[in-house]
Amino acid sequence: MHLPEPFVRRVLDELGEAEGRALCAALDGESPVSVRLNPAKCDGGTLPALSVARAVPWCAEGRYLETRPSFTLDTDFHAGMYYVQEASSQFVGHLLGGVSLEGARVLDLCAAPGGKTTLYASLVGEGGLVVANEIDRRRASVLADNVRKWGTGNIAVTTSEPRAVCDFEAWFDVVAVDAPCSGEGMFRKDDTAREEWSEANVRLCAARQDAILREAWRALKPGGTIIYSTCTFNRDEDEGSLERMLAWAGEEVVEAPEIAVDETWGIACGAVGPWRTFRFYPHRTCGEGFFAAVACKSFDAGGRSRAPKARRDVVAPVDRKSAAELSRWVRNPAEMRFVEIVGTCYAWPEVQAEALRALSAAVPVICSGVALGRLFKGRLKPDPALALYAGLERGAVAVAELFDEEALGYLRRQEVAAGGLAEGINLVCARGRALGFAKRIGGRVNNLYPNSLRIIKQ
Ligand code: SAM
Repeated sequence: MHLPEPFVRRVLDELGEAEGRALCAALDGESPVSVRLNPAKCDGGTLPALSVARAVPWCAEGRYLETRPSFTLDTDFHAGMYYVQEASSQFVGHLLGGVSLEGARVLDLCAAPGGKTTLYASLVGEGGLVVANEIDRRRASVLADNVRKWGTGNIAVTTSEPRAVCDFEAWFDVVAVDAPCSGEGMFRKDDTAREEWSEANVRLCAARQDAILREAWRALKPGGTIIYSTCTFNRDEDEGSLERMLAWAGEEVVEAPEIAVDETWGIACGAVGPWRTFRFYPHRTCGEGFFAAVACKSFDAGGRSRAPKARRDVVAPVDRKSAAELSRWVRNPAEMRFVEIVGTCYAWPEVQAEALRALSAAVPVICSGVALGRLFKGRLKPDPALALYAGLERGAVAVAELFDEEALGYLRRQEVAAGGLAEGINLVCARGRALGFAKRIGGRVNNLYPNSLRIIKQ
């Protein structure tokens, strides 16, 4: 499918004939393939399916690959050892280079499928919290799957309109708006982006972005950092959105600390008032088309940090005996708070527990911290998410190591031979990396891998 005509005319006009043609040619070329490694899980071991070409220069965990492997058939992919993420988007982490993130609360307002959420979760560490909100319920459930697979235990996935989650006013140290957009930067990867593009849609996206930025600003603390990004080249949705925002936010917006950008990266750096802006053109930079911008909220902006009124109380404490059983399953029980939400037990980072409680009382939270599982007669029946949690205490359970084909069979929810498993619950691993649980009862094995995640591809 051809690039949309009005788009081609516009880029030739904006960038000049030679540069505009180079951009259009790059959009008809091949996309680079890249991943971001999971620092909570990659312990220096090899990832055999990935033939790494070189590092992504602006992201310590980013890697370009020589070729695109079949990620679906790589057990490390299912173990959450890495996230398949195009390189330009990994730049949002670099934007936070000058920000102290220890224990920070980050709101990722447009979060599915979770590329940037998982990156922020790695940056804020075990004492931080990422609230990953996604308005679309179906996409929010994919986001939750990716969050569980990432296994950092410091993310809450909410599914609400930006307005509802931003009623947590002046509450977040960082708010990220990865806005729904006209997707011109995806023209190379995705034919539907070309099909769905229209000038009317650009206008619709711009209006929606304005509304989201207004909400995002309310949620940001004075002194906090805001990141705005899109995967489009369209100025109305990029610099234009920032200009319109400055018209109402005025002097509350101030510059973020300087961001070091090496000239060889090919990123076009600019500014819209105090906003620092970064454009990624695929004919100049090794990545997809992307726009990112960063600014801060002035300390003088005022506004008291406040959570909305609690509407429900779904969170119950667990008794001492239950807490003792749950403690066996995590490496740092002293830093956790154990709670029960409609029958399932969760471990929350203690330092973020009150924040998580306030969120759960006000907006729909579809996962938070680590789902540990359900207690039956004082014993934990573990949740599949616990297997993928980087802080799982392996001594709590028998470990069954499966070889590649067998492990893929497990991920397809096929039968598993009882021979290699201990009686009862087993943590199923491939190359030592946890995939899920299985239960052996005599000569039979119950495959406990979630049906919704099973591999269908042969
Ligand atoms: N941040 C994600 C990542 O890195 O994986 C990609 C986010 S995608 C560019 C934009 C998201 O915004 C989509 O998941 C979409 O469902 C969501 N969205 C659509 N309309 C929205 C709205 N009115 N308010 C907030 N989010 C919206």
